[in-house]
This record gives sequence, C-alpha cells and structure tokens, in this order.
Amino acid sequence: MYKIFDEFSDLPITNQQRYDLRHPNYMKEWKLNHPNYDKKYDKTHREQRNANKRIYRLRHPKIEKAHNLAKYHIPLGKMCQFGNCDATKNLNRCHLDYDYPLLVITMCQYHHNLIDRLYREND
Ligand SMILES: [Zn+2]
Repeated sequence: MYKIFDEFSDLPITNQQRYDLRHPNYMKEWKLNHPNYDKKYDKTHREQRNANKRIYRLRHPKIEKAHNLAKYHIPLGKMCQFGNCDATKNLNRCHLDYDYPLLVITMCQYHHNLIDRLYREND
C-alpha cells in the first residue's frame, strides 16, 4: 500500500480537531447520554436529507457520475493512504480531480475532510 501526502502529515490542525484528539470518547459518551437522538433525527429528517441529496445530484452531475463510477469499478482499500495514518475504519474513496473519475485514493473520513478543505481553499 503506497502512501501519499506525506508532506501534510504535520499540518497545523484546528482547535476542534485538537479537542477531538484529546477527547476521543466524547461522541461515545454523548451517544450514551442521548440514546434516542439518532433515531429521532432519522425519522424527522429523512425526507429532508433525501431531498438535499437529490438537489445536490442535480446541481453536480459530474461529481455524482464520478462517485458512481468509482464506487462500481474501484474496490475500497484496506487502509487510509494519507501520510502516516493507519486508520482502517470509516474509509472513503477520495477524488482529487473529477475529470478522472477512476483516479481515487482510499482515505479515512478525517483525512478526506482535511484534503477537501485544502483543495477548496486553493480554488
Ligand atoms: Zn487517515
């Protein structure tokens, strides 16, 4: 498994991310204290979320097509390919350029967000 973005491995991270690193169990505890939250949210917001998805697909047909092509043709890697990250859970396919829909990198959710933010800032 080859790794990419080694040069970003010691990026300064945001206060929120620092907090998350220091309090890795925060979400677990929050879920224990709010046992019904997910269910309620699912029921009351499902239609809204589906509507948002539909709107997003209509607005970004190229992105939607790239996502579908990659999902269909490229198997998901076993590990995050970002720098020194060794996450094996919550993995996504990350597109660096939607002009090349089959060129994807396996990344954990955290590094996917990080890369998306970097790319958006550079636009
Ligand atoms: Zn990662």
